[in-house]
Amino acid sequence: MAKSVLILGSGLGALSTALRLSDKGYAVKIVEKQSRAGGRLHILEKDGYTFDVGPSFFSMSYEFKELFESVGEPIPFELNELNPLYTVNIAGQDRVFQMHKDLTKLAKEFEGIEDDFEAKARGYLAGAKSIFHDTEYRVVKKNFDSILHYLLGMAKVPIKHLPKMFRSFWAELERHFESEEVKIIFSLVAFFLGATPFNTPSVYNLLNYTELQYDGYWNVKGGMYNIVKGMLPLLEARGVQFQYNCEIVAAEYSGKKMTGLRDAAGNLHTADLYVINADAASFRGQFLGRKKFSEAKLDAMDWTLAPFTIYLGVKGKIPGIHHHNYFLGNNFRDYADTIFRSSVAPEKPYYYVNVASKSNPNCAPEGCENLFILCPVPDMRVKPDWSDAETLAQGIIEDLGERVGYDIASNIESKTIYTPVDWASMFNLYRGSGLGLAHGMNQIGAFRPANKDEELNNVYYVGASTVPGTGLPIVVIGSRLVTERIQDEHSIV
Ligand SMILES: Cc1cc2nc3c(=O)[nH]c(=O)nc-3n(C[C@H](O)[C@H](O)[C@H](O)COP(=O)(O)OP(=O)(O)OC[C@H]3O[C@@H](n4cnc5c(N)ncnc54)[C@H](O)[C@@H]3O)c2cc1C
Repeated sequence: MAKSVLILGSGLGALSTALRLSDKGYAVKIVEKQSRAGGRLHILEKDGYTFDVGPSFFSMSYEFKELFESVGEPIPFELNELNPLYTVNIAGQDRVFQMHKDLTKLAKEFEGIEDDFEAKARGYLAGAKSIFHDTEYRVVKKNFDSILHYLLGMAKVPIKHLPKMFRSFWAELERHFESEEVKIIFSLVAFFLGATPFNTPSVYNLLNYTELQYDGYWNVKGGMYNIVKGMLPLLEARGVQFQYNCEIVAAEYSGKKMTGLRDAAGNLHTADLYVINADAASFRGQFLGRKKFSEAKLDAMDWTLAPFTIYLGVKGKIPGIHHHNYFLGNNFRDYADTIFRSSVAPEKPYYYVNVASKSNPNCAPEGCENLFILCPVPDMRVKPDWSDAETLAQGIIEDLGERVGYDIASNIESKTIYTPVDWASMFNLYRGSGLGLAHGMNQIGAFRPANKDEELNNVYYVGASTVPGTGLPIVVIGSRLVTERIQDEHSIV
């Protein structure tokens, strides 16, 4: 008999799970507090401009291919490989580093900075490749039922990788490269995991392999929100129902079963099974009253940085800027040491700029650019007051204008700012943390909030703060893991 599944939230993890489950015959309904689907994968249409609100590119594009192949569909959007992957501007340096997958080409970018770069990079990436393939199926793409089960899985990872568990990301880079520039650029990815390269385990150097050699970076023709737009008709064709503007404010349960989710208007939504796409840690604390996830315990966990985002419509074409750009200062170590801890906005912020109009002209009126600026900042545990948002935004816009040689400030036609407070309230992100729980060794695998509830046997989780972790392809993997669990435990035959 068809089992009904209620999914709380419509982020990418939820949409992917809904697609897999509905394709297998489950009757799926999604409730979402926003007026459209996608969660952090959102769109902002304003003043004739269109902006991707959150994600602007991704790696591991083959996870999307797997998702759609699993339901017998072609990918419902067009993938676009980034080339160069991105550019990096370091304050005080005239040269702009263009990151290429072709290592011979990339070596030219570091000429005069890092001797013998190509050979060193090949050695470094060979190590990263080996750990990626040795952990992909043994640890990342696997459901674990207990810590013991997880540790047994880890024990199958070849012993040669053990030192990487104890060495830092930066220390691994120091074993291969001498120049600060190469080490800084290769370590930027650590910030997305929720820590600095100085305290992120070196195993995560594998991300540079996925980025530079294995699959590269991708975005979506016409804008990232086309992922959601492409998925909706497939979901509707499989009978998935959506209820938007529906905020869940309480969970009801009895014995070992959830009996319903109550919305702000007082309606009770019921189903046989529930999949929670809200934050898997804070939901357990705030809706299920679990002591392990009390406010104090949640605050003691490690969270990824919060986003401070600016969306600008700018008159004129800006030279000297590409589709994906990092703008860094010249005090990397100090900045990394304080960025998670400082209760004041950074004076000389490091930030990322995406100019989608460089490759998607429809995002901006003719002759104009749309800029998405992301400055990672401390979450609201550390800096709850964002009344200084305008000042920080102004500083970034001035700095960017100077560095690219274009008067951006005088040519702004549209401006929107989202502080961590906005991000927290828009998508219920705990303390405004942008990517959810961090990925230290104590918060991954069986140590991360599981995708199956500990007490209620009809409740499951998918999304950034459950397994395997955060990022678009990773929550797609998460949707496969939770679907496998549901099929094993609540088959519909
Ligand atoms: C600024 C920013 C930039 C990013 N850039 C990238 C990138 O370039 N590449 C990449 O791979 N990843 C990126 N990420 C991470 C990526 O966006 C997330 O990992 C991914 O989108 C998380 O998906 P999710 O399934 O956890 O759902 P979410 O996106 O968290 O969606 C959850 C949904 O649940 C809804 N919800 C929550 N609580 C309730 C409730 N009580 N009632 C009703 N609805 C509720 C929310 O409104 C939301 O729509 C970025 C994130 C941010 C914030």
